[in-house]
Amino acid sequence: MSIRRLNLTLLAGCLMCTLSVTAADDLPAHHRDSGFGNPYAEKRNTNLFSVLRSRFFSDEWQRYDKERDQVPVTSPDLAAAPTDNATVTWIGHATVLVQHRGINVLTDPMFSNIASPISFLGPKRITQPAVALEDLPEIHAVVISHDHYDHLDTATIKALGNTPRYFVPLGVKRWFVNKGIAAERVDEMDWWDERRLEVDGEELVITATPSQHFSGRTLTDRNKTLWAAWSVAWTDFHTWFGGDTGYNPHQFKETAERLQQVDLGVIPIGAYKPRQMMGPIHVNPAEAVEIHKDLQARASMAIHWGAFILSAEGVLTPAEDLAIAREAAGLDEDTFAAWSVGETRHFPARTPATTAAR
Ligand code: ZN
Ligand code: ZN
Repeated sequence: MSIRRLNLTLLAGCLMCTLSVTAADDLPAHHRDSGFGNPYAEKRNTNLFSVLRSRFFSDEWQRYDKERDQVPVTSPDLAAAPTDNATVTWIGHATVLVQHRGINVLTDPMFSNIASPISFLGPKRITQPAVALEDLPEIHAVVISHDHYDHLDTATIKALGNTPRYFVPLGVKRWFVNKGIAAERVDEMDWWDERRLEVDGEELVITATPSQHFSGRTLTDRNKTLWAAWSVAWTDFHTWFGGDTGYNPHQFKETAERLQQVDLGVIPIGAYKPRQMMGPIHVNPAEAVEIHKDLQARASMAIHWGAFILSAEGVLTPAEDLAIAREAAGLDEDTFAAWSVGETRHFPARTPATTAAR
């Protein structure tokens, strides 16, 4: 990568960060006069110099060229799951395909090469999506965590079109309608709002849950739309998708208290250095493990690493730090794994007895 390329990438990434200061205040509510806020976040230090220093002069950054080709990649297996098993495939970054009981759900679909409003400027993929858009099975539901470019992509949404039903945080529906998606295909939801989706007699319950992040796609729309995590619950399998989030000791415990047992947590582990800037909005792997524990999830999978380089840590550092944090927490690898891009795993659905237990 040329220095020019590095600088362009950096500037695009930092511009989004710098313009997105999320100041905590005394209000517990996430609704503010002019948009939304985080009830529990610390104020961020958005000193550009600290990012420049850690991005270009840290030991980890020197690892970039060596590691960019070392993200583990494998071929997905989208074939029908064994009976009563959910099939989960990491397509890459925050895009996960969950298939269960004939209902296919996609999280934050992002299949483009650059996460930026400008085609030649911004974070470029270092690993390709494991499944091409045209090879996806019919998608019945899409959940969107927030409007950042690495989570909400114009070309991808236009390609998915009006086939799925979209579940989006408050304020994001207008973007979909502007892209030509029918208004009746988009459910715009506040935290704890719940919707039901029926497909061929099988029902999905989708609930927007709190997360700690920020939003904005332009210089003038900072925090004008909401961000959210998503609970996606079949009758016998419950997955929780964290999207992009920082950590606080309240929101994920509340999620566990209010919702049924989480069978699979889908939790971000990347884009966390430098901590003084990224800490309030992106968990590090140790905090990701705290989310897993707060959720009381049966298992979790790691996302939001290995595709777009958005921050100062090394390409492989998130997976390495997750292994350290997992061991410190006494969890085995299968309980919270960093999968290969494209990896498919099966998860057993709960029996009626365990479903009724919570
Ligand atoms: Zn984001
Ligand atoms: Zn992100």
